[in-house]
Amino acid sequence: MVGEILAVGTELLLGQIVDTNSAYLSRRLAELGVDVYFKSCVGDNVRRVESTLQLALSRSDLVVVTGGLGPTDDDVTVAAVADVIGRKLVYSAQVDSDIVEYFRKTGRQPSDNNRKQAMVIGGCTLIRNQVGTAPGQIIEDAGKIIVLVPGVPREMTWMMENTVIPYLKQKIQSVGGAVIRSRILRTVGMGESALVVQIEDILSSQTNPTIAPYASDGLVDLRITAKAQDDETARQMIDRVAESIRSRLGGLIYGEDNETLAEVVGRLLLTKGETIALAESCTGGLLGKLITDVPGSSRYFLGGTVTYSNESKTKLLGVQPEILERHGAVSRQCAAAMALGVKRLFESSVSVSVTGLAGPDGGTATKPVGLVYAAVVCGGSLSIARLLLNGNRDQVRTRACVAILNLLRRVLTALP
Ligand code: ATP
Repeated sequence: MVGEILAVGTELLLGQIVDTNSAYLSRRLAELGVDVYFKSCVGDNVRRVESTLQLALSRSDLVVVTGGLGPTDDDVTVAAVADVIGRKLVYSAQVDSDIVEYFRKTGRQPSDNNRKQAMVIGGCTLIRNQVGTAPGQIIEDAGKIIVLVPGVPREMTWMMENTVIPYLKQKIQSVGGAVIRSRILRTVGMGESALVVQIEDILSSQTNPTIAPYASDGLVDLRITAKAQDDETARQMIDRVAESIRSRLGGLIYGEDNETLAEVVGRLLLTKGETIALAESCTGGLLGKLITDVPGSSRYFLGGTVTYSNESKTKLLGVQPEILERHGAVSRQCAAAMALGVKRLFESSVSVSVTGLAGPDGGTATKPVGLVYAAVVCGGSLSIARLLLNGNRDQVRTRACVAILNLLRRVLTALP
């Protein structure tokens, strides 16, 4: 099945919003084994929506249209589709009562505008909207499938997941189509080019599954994608490639798919029965934010300090003034004293500190921007890392957090 996506909305063309719907739709259609060769974006203009849809129908079996289903005059999708395939709009009592019910739940009355949404394309299969007012519609016409879903991402994904994807799966299976499945192996601790060298032979010998590296802020993801007749075969094909990559990269792989480094660290803290406290300087609380992004982190995260000034490092963490005078705040010695200090303060079993120069100003020849020291105290041992990070202020802070979480992962993994 060849599919294409049509995103409708002038605000998309003006760059006022990013077309995240098309990215989601591409991903989900690829997983179903639909070949997506084109994506288009068109403003809220009937004539232009019509001509784009005509072109899409001339070259694809399936067209998914997102947006322009709303109640206002600039929502033109339904009228344009009806015109292109020569069907009439018909009144749907079902949609009308859904809309009345939707407003009733929030103690409001629908306007006449809203009730315009009860006019749907004759012969369509309705997709009732439980999270908004615009109904979705599936239209089969002259061997083609047109799917209309709202622009509001929450409404669009809800309809796709609950109705459209099951419907498409059935259609594809009935014509013996293939499925596409992917898995992401997530790595940390080695840059993209060095990592690719480690698995060059595996990468170059693969066409199905394919392996695509994607790097961002100190992390490199490897996406393995397989095309097969069914789920189980695709899974086995991915397993085989994942296994050979794992045997090569070993401990550089920290997780799969959507797993974050902070989740992995959290799980290690829990299973090893540890608690953690943080002393942050240059990251300004970002490390604490990442750790507490994980639901349930209160079971191991005790708290932290954002000790930015020298005075606060001394007052709250007990960093000796001599250390600051002699070695400076960005030093191995200060990082160690901060980690020991915060461990005392919170009485945690593990503690972490970070101090560095995020820039853009303040660098010197011996202490350049991007220099960061981090310390981890765990049990009786102290590990200190000296990092030299590239990038702007944001990137230095993010990359420092990634490196520290990875240091923590390694220290915790080594615990009995
Ligand atoms: P509804 O009737 O449910 O409001 P609609 O189909 O009329 O939906 P639009 O009016 O086109 O949807 O868009 C509503 C909002 O949805 C936009 O303001 C925007 O925030 C979001 N949106 C629309 N299209 C997209 C898109 N392609 N990607 C991401 N967000 C989008």
